[in-house]
Amino acid sequence: MQSFTETMFDGHTQTLAVEEIIYQQRGVEQDILVFRNPRYGRVMALEGIVQVTEEDEFIYHEMMAHLPIFGHGAVKDVLIIGGGDGGTLRHVLMHPNVQRAVMVEIEPDVITLAKQYFPRICGDAFADKRTQLIIGDGCAYVRDTAEKFDVIIIDATDPVGPGKVLYTPEFYADCKRCLKPGGVLRTHAGMATEQNGPLHETAEHLRKIFTTAQFSLATIPTYMPGPMVFGLSSNNQALFTVPETMLAERLRASGIRCRYYTTALHHACAALPQYVLDILG
Ligand code: SAM
Repeated sequence: MQSFTETMFDGHTQTLAVEEIIYQQRGVEQDILVFRNPRYGRVMALEGIVQVTEEDEFIYHEMMAHLPIFGHGAVKDVLIIGGGDGGTLRHVLMHPNVQRAVMVEIEPDVITLAKQYFPRICGDAFADKRTQLIIGDGCAYVRDTAEKFDVIIIDATDPVGPGKVLYTPEFYADCKRCLKPGGVLRTHAGMATEQNGPLHETAEHLRKIFTTAQFSLATIPTYMPGPMVFGLSSNNQALFTVPETMLAERLRASGIRCRYYTTALHHACAALPQYVLDILG
């Protein structure tokens, strides 16, 4: 059987068996590979880095979408930067209160491939009448737009290639300007054991721009090699101390059945081990 090896970090690689190569082309911005793995189902990699798999996407997407939306409690307008596989969009649209989800994705081919090969991940999200899809650079969008959102989710690639601009202080400041009062920015900041420098820098940027930047962990098996760090940044203090009973009521009212998110995990995932606290400063 063929195999796919990801070599993002020096001295640590991840190899996935390839049952079938489904698609392999240069997109507008990135090399795109779609293959089938016996354990994780369909897998999409961009620039040789796994972006999403059918079997473990729920962990990442529920952390990205449900946690900030349940924490906020009254979300109507959501902006997603990146997220071309449609997983975050589908989870955002599960919330009946969400009236509009704008998604700005730089790579049109990722969306085409998501619709064709990853219906389990994107569902009907791209056809939902609340979805507004913009093909373009998310950084330029937040710099230029006058629109305001309750939640902004940065569902981007790593800080290489077109995703690099989405980790800068200027970009985070523009995101803050695009938030309504009480709004919240959701980010993923990198892998806890590998990206110490970028994680530290990201934490510093976010803390300068928002009154609170909280970090939490989740482990997604195909995002090697360990826990991923997520950021939740806002000037709305109440969002970080929502009582669990209130979260439980919001979850019940939404009618959403989660596979990863629980109300107990909502705050508990921000209890960090010492080595991560040290990295984040
Ligand atoms: N879950 C993934 C992860 O952490 O590896 C992210 C998946 S999602 C497919 C990432 C998307 O961000 C890609 O489709 C990529 O094209 C998009 N992207 C990268 N840079 C971007 C930018 N500057 N503006 C908008 N989208 C961008």
